[in-house]
Amino acid sequence: MTLKIPFDNTYTRLPQRFFSRQNPTPVASPALIRFNTELATELNITPGTKPELAAAFSGNILPEGAAPIALAYAGHQFGGFSPQLGDGRAHLLGEVVDTKGKRFDIQLKGSGPTPWSRGGDGRAWLGPVLREYVVSESMHALGIPTSRALAAVTTGDRVFRENGALPGAVLTRVAASHIRVGTFEYFAARGDKDALQTLLDHAISRHYPGCETPLEFLTAVIRAQAELVGKWLSVGFIHGVMNTDNTTISGETIDYGPCAFMDVYHPQTVFSSIDARGRYAYDNQAHVIVWNMAQLASALLLLMPDQDQAIRDFTEAVHAMPGLIEGHWLRLFGRKIGLEDARPEDKALITRLLDIMTDEKADFTNSFRNLPLEEPAYSGWTTSWQARLKSETGVSARLQAANPAFIPRNHRIEQMIDAALAGDFKPFERLLTVLSRPYESQPEAQDLSRPPQPGEVVESTFCGT
Ligand code: AMP
Ligand code: MG
Repeated sequence: MTLKIPFDNTYTRLPQRFFSRQNPTPVASPALIRFNTELATELNITPGTKPELAAAFSGNILPEGAAPIALAYAGHQFGGFSPQLGDGRAHLLGEVVDTKGKRFDIQLKGSGPTPWSRGGDGRAWLGPVLREYVVSESMHALGIPTSRALAAVTTGDRVFRENGALPGAVLTRVAASHIRVGTFEYFAARGDKDALQTLLDHAISRHYPGCETPLEFLTAVIRAQAELVGKWLSVGFIHGVMNTDNTTISGETIDYGPCAFMDVYHPQTVFSSIDARGRYAYDNQAHVIVWNMAQLASALLLLMPDQDQAIRDFTEAVHAMPGLIEGHWLRLFGRKIGLEDARPEDKALITRLLDIMTDEKADFTNSFRNLPLEEPAYSGWTTSWQARLKSETGVSARLQAANPAFIPRNHRIEQMIDAALAGDFKPFERLLTVLSRPYESQPEAQDLSRPPQPGEVVESTFCGT
């Protein structure tokens, strides 16, 4: 069998200033770590031999129909505006339409420099590639919109980082698109109204075909992102770099750099080593995403003939977002304590549980999975909870369906990376297998549901560069 990717590219038809045509830089000796056959099937991709897959997904050969580009975008990073970012180490090979008629980007990450590299080497090392593979596939299995991993290869080249020479790797990521809030900001910052309108038309036809106006589009993105962030909170996920260049228009999670799942619950948890002030702490995510949507609104203003009216309308749309997030939070955390449809008055019950968990330094994932908790600290809460459950049916099935047993715990990711660096990819494969069914008990994988032992705790994570 020969690898065949049925490319059907649309972004390359947009004006030249949207991207730069750029081929990946060949690597020394590509070797396949993993190819996601199931995902490939959904994407109508015919897999080839291992060497062929390694060559294609390292960028050494271009599959027929590929038209590699690096995308232009800007972004607010930690609140400060960078007018020119762009793909500094990624090549969009092209787009495919899946078996359900949905369009997806196929992008290599770590495939060499581009005009947007700003002095970077355009490469990635093995650790962050495996981390993104596992975490993004785990998010998908948890039911959270996300980019996915199609392939991972080692390059045979060394990559130089602070901690020395490391094995290079390339990740192939699949996303509904790579259009970000920062893509809109890029053209708005240049006052390029034509490009902004073209981008809006493209984004609407691709993601929100029912929308007719910038306001409707803004509202649709706000809805998608409100639901996404609600889902992050419900599994204890901390993205870590919620810059506007890492915030998609599609409402998918993208850019797994210093992200992490909480073990011990604390609302102000931060992992990213570059987030010294906790801007992107766990419970700030609901505020930051509103700020990010305000940046999208500001960019769209350039298209509006009546600025005063548009400011009023856009402000109203952005101001509605905290209520939307709160609604998702209530619904999702309600399910986590077994309620089919939580009511506003149930909020107090949920926050009381979270407060006790904070005091008890409880494990977020296991506390919900193991309800009712037996420790004395929870006894008062359990009494109120059981009283509330009297009017509910199917509670235990709902608890199981809403509370995963398995999340990609940081210490397991680190251990998996260490093993891979020593040439052992079995922990990587095992994590993928277990995390693909996160809501099932899987007694043989109990060790992967345990919180870290004192010596295993991971205090901080690093940007995948
Ligand atoms: P990120 O924090 O991964 O969202 O990256 C922010 C920006 O830095 C993006 O424009 C990346 O393409 C770029 N970048 C990150 N690492 C590298 C690298 N090793 N070489 C070139 N560009 C990079
Ligand atoms: Mg990024």
